[in-house]
Amino acid sequence: TDARLVAGLDTARSADLFDAACKLIPGGVNSTARATWSGWSPYPLFVESGQGSRLRDVDGNEYIDYLLGLGPMIFGHRPARVTQAVVDFIQSRGTVFALPTADEARLAQKIIDAVPSVEQVRLCNTGTEAVLYATRLARAFTKRNKIIRFEGMYHGFSDGVYWSKHPSIDKAGPDDRPIPVPQGPGMPKGVEENLIILPWNDAQVLADVIAREGDSIAAVLTEPVMCNTGCILPKPGYLEAMRELTQKHGIVLIFDEVITGFRLGLAGAQGRLGIRPDLSVFAKGIGGGFPVAAMGGRADIMALVANGTVSMAGTYSANGIAISAANAALDELATPGLYAKLDAVSDELRLGLAKVLRDAGLPAYVVGIGPLMQVWFAKEEIHNYRDAERHADQEIFRRWWQGMLSKGVLFHPGAYENLFVSTAHTHADVAATLDAARHVAADLAR
Ligand code: PLP
Repeated sequence: TDARLVAGLDTARSADLFDAACKLIPGGVNSTARATWSGWSPYPLFVESGQGSRLRDVDGNEYIDYLLGLGPMIFGHRPARVTQAVVDFIQSRGTVFALPTADEARLAQKIIDAVPSVEQVRLCNTGTEAVLYATRLARAFTKRNKIIRFEGMYHGFSDGVYWSKHPSIDKAGPDDRPIPVPQGPGMPKGVEENLIILPWNDAQVLADVIAREGDSIAAVLTEPVMCNTGCILPKPGYLEAMRELTQKHGIVLIFDEVITGFRLGLAGAQGRLGIRPDLSVFAKGIGGGFPVAAMGGRADIMALVANGTVSMAGTYSANGIAISAANAALDELATPGLYAKLDAVSDELRLGLAKVLRDAGLPAYVVGIGPLMQVWFAKEEIHNYRDAERHADQEIFRRWWQGMLSKGVLFHPGAYENLFVSTAHTHADVAATLDAARHVAADLAR
């Protein structure tokens, strides 16, 4: 392949900028999800700018953007109301004070009003931090050590949870009781003793482990919809069973709604699916593109933060950018009919893609919920990480990604990522996307 081309597009400036960046920045990027080994090969596209549903690279190629910063850009790029609120705040008031502002409680009230399970909430900057706080708090509250987490999920990059995200399954133990596999070297030894890794979507396996070891389990940590092994929906009754089992054994149920929160509705996946966790973690969607995260839930658990038993610190927690962005984003998200419209455009895309793939005779299907979806190139149903490893065709996905990119449709090259839709995406964007998909699917079927 010509190194100046990605998917047949002239990307010479991206190539040059990547070469230059690699001398200064390890791997040329500042997050693993942008690295060549995450699929952005031979190099990631370098961005010039984004506007609404569109993204332009430094070579002048324009894309309909379903990458959306991997989720935060729920209003599309440069959302006027959020941007203006941030500019106003930092110009007229400041950025970091190491003292509270009235704006923090206003924001907390909006989160509490939006999400019924959240009685109190603490703010921070990233999903990684928020998960770390939630797991520590659950351990302190229960005076137990072990955390159940599920193979193939991602809960940020901290030592305690960055395990079994993408293990090689022939080295990861039996299907019903995987052994914890660290993301890589450098994770401290011993952490795995406090982790139980389970396959997702299997209530019996969960029940068995809790029956055996429930007394030492502090928390079950889960995404309510699995968004880090493509998109996998919970089987009917699975989250209900999880809620019941955890409640019965005094185990804290933590929903990691970093991706689903404020995306599947104001009350997140928990609102949409009707499950009430004990603690929840929000990030991405809450800030309209600015770095802000939140961890909240039951007041009796949060009381340990209130009285200082569990310290949640952070120089930048609830800084002016975060607070003003999230206050504006939540006001915008509360616009009547906003989620109904977002869902309508998203459904059109999901159902449209499914039809295009079916019409082309490809062994593929689309899984999603609202403005969150992924295509599986597989003949079999996929309900957990090992299903995906065994059945999903990564080769065809790659060709699908390349084909769509060449036609001006951008999403992550990894089959285990998602397509995101924003409120800026229009029916015309979807029509153009489906048009591109028809051509690409026909090519793939040849
Ligand atoms: N939890 C989930 C479900 C995520 O998808 C992510 C990031 O993609 C995180 C946690 C970590 O969030 P952050 O990247 O803000 O640290």
